[in-house]
Amino acid sequence: QAKRTPGTALAMAEQRFEQMSSKSLDNEQALRKGIRNHEIYLDYQPKIDAVSGRLLGFEALARWMRPGVGMVSPVEFIAIAERTGLIPELGAMLLEQACRQIAAWCAELGDCMPVAVNVSPMQLLNRGFLQLVERVLSETGIPPRCLTLEITESAAVDNLDDTQLQLQQLSALGIDVAMDDFGTGFSSLSMLRQLPLSTVKIDRGLIDPLPAPDAVAVVMAICQLAAALDLQVVAEGIETLEQAVAARDAGCHALQGFFYARPLTVADAGEWMRRQQAGADSGGVAGLLAG
Ligand code: C2E
Ligand code: MG
Ligand code: MG
Ligand code: MG
Repeated sequence: QAKRTPGTALAMAEQRFEQMSSKSLDNEQALRKGIRNHEIYLDYQPKIDAVSGRLLGFEALARWMRPGVGMVSPVEFIAIAERTGLIPELGAMLLEQACRQIAAWCAELGDCMPVAVNVSPMQLLNRGFLQLVERVLSETGIPPRCLTLEITESAAVDNLDDTQLQLQQLSALGIDVAMDDFGTGFSSLSMLRQLPLSTVKIDRGLIDPLPAPDAVAVVMAICQLAAALDLQVVAEGIETLEQAVAARDAGCHALQGFFYARPLTVADAGEWMRRQQAGADSGGVAGLLAG
């Protein structure tokens, strides 16, 4: 094996850096173009009432079908958008899209169809965010209670004061705020008390091991704390009937996961809504859980 001189190592590092930065430049340009060309859209995953099995609403999840590449994970392209300053533009586009959909569903239903929109930490703490939400609410005319914003705990942990102020102003508009991915990061329990939240979403990582007794104990403890603080609890990532039953019995109010439905296209989500409205059994879920 040839010995590498320091010079060679440096050259290799430089080359790697160039490759990396040209790839990220490429990604940035593709994303910029993708936003402009409306390649990014929302799917909607149902949220189910743990006791009745009824549809409670949807979570909007961003999708990017990148031409020539295929589906890009939102985790990946949201990170690119944050790094490159595209997040305000992308976030605004997705919020508008979700609120227009809420307006359409509410009009069809003659009632509120709640939809939760994910908001990244950088987006939440952006100065223009409150004004954006106000503008979109007034332009679409939706009742604010139909909109929930899902925030992640990392935003709150790193900037508790700013987050608190921002969330106070947002909830003063009448919208709901949910703490997403709860229980796996560095969540401080007092944060739940300090922030004006309506909902806690228990991370899939804590739901996955259900119905193992130790996992049940953790989920029950979160539900008890949430009840004391008057918060609703959603269990994310329900994949099996056993998990659904365990989460319901532990005290979760709402269930979400592949067991009920994957994130759906607007058309399929509309079908779910109509089936529900027609009073049809929502895919046998209520019956299954009633037992
Ligand atoms: P999240 O908000 O915690 O969303 C839940 C993720 O879990 C989604 O992945 C969803 O498809 C997936 N999931 C739902 N049920 C199950 C299940 O039963 N099993 C498994 N294994 N997975 C399940 P997705 O759509 O890839 O989104 C990943 C993350 O990207 C989201 O996590 C959210 O943090 C972020 N994200 C998605 N859309 C947006 C958006 O519009 N804006 C922002 N800022 N972030 C978004
Ligand atoms: Mg979410
Ligand atoms: Mg989550
Ligand atoms: Mg998650």
